[in-house]
Amino acid sequence: MLKKGTKLYSILTGSCPKCHSESMYKSKNLYDPSMTLKMNETCSHCGTKYKIEPSFFYGAMYISYGVGIAFSVAAFVISYVFLKTSLKISFIAIIATLVFFMPVIMRVSRNIWVNFFLKYDPKISKKQA
Ligand SMILES: [Zn+2]
Repeated sequence: MLKKGTKLYSILTGSCPKCHSESMYKSKNLYDPSMTLKMNETCSHCGTKYKIEPSFFYGAMYISYGVGIAFSVAAFVISYVFLKTSLKISFIAIIATLVFFMPVIMRVSRNIWVNFFLKYDPKISKKQA
């Protein structure tokens, strides 16, 4: 299901939104706080500039609210509905989830954001691959 050429692929892997050939991020280790949001300037395969304009990625903050809520709801449902914990424990589960997945949420939000503006181009992908 996770195929190259779909927006989901780029969003979940953090790969270049245009050619899907390489990661936008300098490090795979998103749990190193100094590397979480370190991105390459451009894609070395297709030359796409990720930061379309200065402070482009500020917009990703709005996405991260939504993504954070999605994670919270998921944590709540798993804890309260499936594990039948108390409300208090369920809220602790939400906070723990948000803290634990913060780097993921931050990256996924950027990936979603950049995929709003840039589209996969199979021609670019093929030529360079
Ligand atoms: Zn590329």
